[in-house]
Amino acid sequence: MTEITAPKSPITTAEFADEIREQLKYTQGVTVEQATPADVYVAASTAVRRHLMDSWMKTQQDMVNGNTKAVGYLSAEFLMGKQLRNALLNAGLTEQFDEAVEQLGFDYQDVVDAEYEPALGNGGLGRLAACFIDSLASLGVPAFGYGIQYQYGIFKQSFNEQGQQIENPEYWLANEEPWGHVDYNRSQRVDFGGYVADEDGKRVWHPATCVRAVPVDYMVPGYASGRVNTLRLWTAKSYDEFDLLTFNRSDYLNAVRPQVDAENISKILYPEDSTPQGKRLRLQQQYFFVSASIHDAIRVFYPGQDKPDLTTFPDKITFQLNDTHPVIGIPELMRVLIDEYGYDWDTAWDITTRTFNYTCHTLLPEALEVWPANLIGELLPRHLEIIYQINDHFLNEIAGKTRDKAKIERMRIVTEGDDPQVRMAYLAVAGGSHVNGVAELHSQLLKDITLKDFSDLYGEKFTNVTNGVTPRRFIKLANPRLSDLITEGLGTDKWLSDLELLKGLEPLAQDDEFVKKFAEVKHANKVSFANYAKRQYGFDMNPDTMFNSMIKRLHEYKRQSLKILALIARYADIKNGNMSADDVMPRTVIFGAKSAPGYYMAKLTIQLINNVARVVNNDPDVKGKLNVFFPWNYNVRLAQHLIPATDLDEQISQAGKEASGTGNMKFALNGALTVGTLDGANVEIRERVGAENFFLFGMTVDEVEELYAKGYGPAAYYEANPRLKQAIDMISNGTFSNGDRNTFAPLVADWLTKDYFMTLADFDSYTAIQSDIEALYRTPLEWHRKALINVANSGYFSSDRSIEDYLERIWHTGPLAD
Ligand SMILES: *Cc1c(COP(=O)(O)O)cnc(C)c1O
Repeated sequence: MTEITAPKSPITTAEFADEIREQLKYTQGVTVEQATPADVYVAASTAVRRHLMDSWMKTQQDMVNGNTKAVGYLSAEFLMGKQLRNALLNAGLTEQFDEAVEQLGFDYQDVVDAEYEPALGNGGLGRLAACFIDSLASLGVPAFGYGIQYQYGIFKQSFNEQGQQIENPEYWLANEEPWGHVDYNRSQRVDFGGYVADEDGKRVWHPATCVRAVPVDYMVPGYASGRVNTLRLWTAKSYDEFDLLTFNRSDYLNAVRPQVDAENISKILYPEDSTPQGKRLRLQQQYFFVSASIHDAIRVFYPGQDKPDLTTFPDKITFQLNDTHPVIGIPELMRVLIDEYGYDWDTAWDITTRTFNYTCHTLLPEALEVWPANLIGELLPRHLEIIYQINDHFLNEIAGKTRDKAKIERMRIVTEGDDPQVRMAYLAVAGGSHVNGVAELHSQLLKDITLKDFSDLYGEKFTNVTNGVTPRRFIKLANPRLSDLITEGLGTDKWLSDLELLKGLEPLAQDDEFVKKFAEVKHANKVSFANYAKRQYGFDMNPDTMFNSMIKRLHEYKRQSLKILALIARYADIKNGNMSADDVMPRTVIFGAKSAPGYYMAKLTIQLINNVARVVNNDPDVKGKLNVFFPWNYNVRLAQHLIPATDLDEQISQAGKEASGTGNMKFALNGALTVGTLDGANVEIRERVGAENFFLFGMTVDEVEELYAKGYGPAAYYEANPRLKQAIDMISNGTFSNGDRNTFAPLVADWLTKDYFMTLADFDSYTAIQSDIEALYRTPLEWHRKALINVANSGYFSSDRSIEDYLERIWHTGPLAD
């Protein structure tokens, strides 16, 4: 008997069909006959939202009335992915939806496809925020996600004839968006600029301008918890939208100027910040959403109170700073407490430091955000004063802890000199209770290197929480076939809220019949993906080849270049007859990646991948042996389709550079084997699934550091390895650029002279491991056995477990009482 615990709504298919009809009629004003799939999508979404309403309201009431501290997850990005299927799952309405929509005469896939993915994030950091709010709701912990509703999310990527990345604005709000509720009645004022004056012994900020922060509320339904939390994304509006006088003088552009200036704040994610105006806009965005969120939390937890007792604030809510983007919240809460509510410095500091915690997401010192003090002074003059005061207090405090003058100097929150800079990571460590890295190795390196001075003096603040992913979206929704097989194998679907239960699959890895079923699931997923890729991109993929994926942001440290060089070497081997037909294990290599618009090397790498794909796919000599595809516009939707169909995933960053990775977790949970370095969470994945079930290669962190210290010369590797040499020479001689030798010259020059991330040094060991990979793939039963062992041992990488670690180590709160 299989035990099914998934939520099931008491309503019938017929009732749900009636609700959709009603929404079509009364909200959208169309008949079923007139309706398009997009109309049905909106109607069904509105109907699901109604089903969640009671739980949403009750969760908020219980949160405000009870004694359970809430979590406020402050993040510049929430990469949510599509909402409908997830909401249906959690409302227990999936079957009713599928059938009702068919009854109404629509194909449910068409209706689901009509949803536009909100792309309010860049990559892993934004997807982590989305997984975390899903897990918070599923664990029944009261929480807010706080961020920005960007009008345009991350750009929409396409490729031109030359294979270059083209960026187009992603105007996702051009479509009806049934999930976000714009709540004009709960807006907040956010001030900017002006000056600070002494008045009656107090510092008083006289701002120059203000904008209106209007919340757009998204429900975040928990899975099987009966709880629905809130994602509150702020959108910027002007108070004086429009200047009628100016308009009537026919100066139309200036008449809407205030509106344009205000709305620019929530216009796009990560405006280009190479100009002073761009920098300014980014700081405006950060302050905008954080200030609005802090005031919102006070409104929510002290309803109707003019003089709330804010010494209890840290018992009401704990704010998690997802990287440095929201760190301006620390001086903002200080300002609110001192200037708006009259607390003294020490009380305000005590409240503030007990309210905030900080998650660091990087190891690269240059990636730690700093703001010119001048810019902060211009936009937020009062905050700059407070930051200097925090800096003074902090330097005094550490002077009591160490006599090491150089150390004290290194730890300044605000640097000295002509153009002082505010180090946001340092401010976050000083102004909060806990600091965490996102994987064991990363947290260790933070303590040993990146934030060593701080960990020496404030060791008790430092902890680790290894990232995770939500099994609802990344197994259940993405991979229904595997989900059914897991449920069959375990005899229960409880694994969806307790992922460590996957361990129960381990004995089944010795059951050949079960392993064969597992292999059939993978094959069926590959067929599905091949069909999807044909429909969406026009690609012809052969599901009987190995599917080998590398999908992640394009960055030099992630080393897409290592993959492409090895691929070219393989292409040359086949073409030169260095490999007999029998030696060649047919592969389909799939890339997905966006490059930051201003990142020249990354964009050139994209162009190279596209051109290698063009040459390889059109070469009759390698037909059936090697194919390369680069589906454009990598996003959550593509991840959900491709990950379940992948045999081998690439996690090949230079050791010591990837903080955690979460793509690696999604793949392991969907039965792909990983080829990877000892970096980020790869280390923990390998420990859990077993070294024999993971393809390890490359230098370790220590070896990388040693080589840097010794002096790294990439050219020697090029000279020493004929296959590597040939691959690079083929790029230089124009094989992938129609004979033009200049196109990729900057890439080649970088590899041969700098190669900061040591791609060339790891080439040997990366290509050597390929024969192990291919030998195993030739014995499918053994391959799939290992893949199944990966699934069975990856339950730890559920974001539910991450949240439980945060609750225990950092937030010290838990689920609402029933
Ligand atoms: C999981 C995910 C990421 C993170 O991938 P990494 O390989 O960990 O960098 C980025 N983008 C999307 C759309 C994702 O789903």
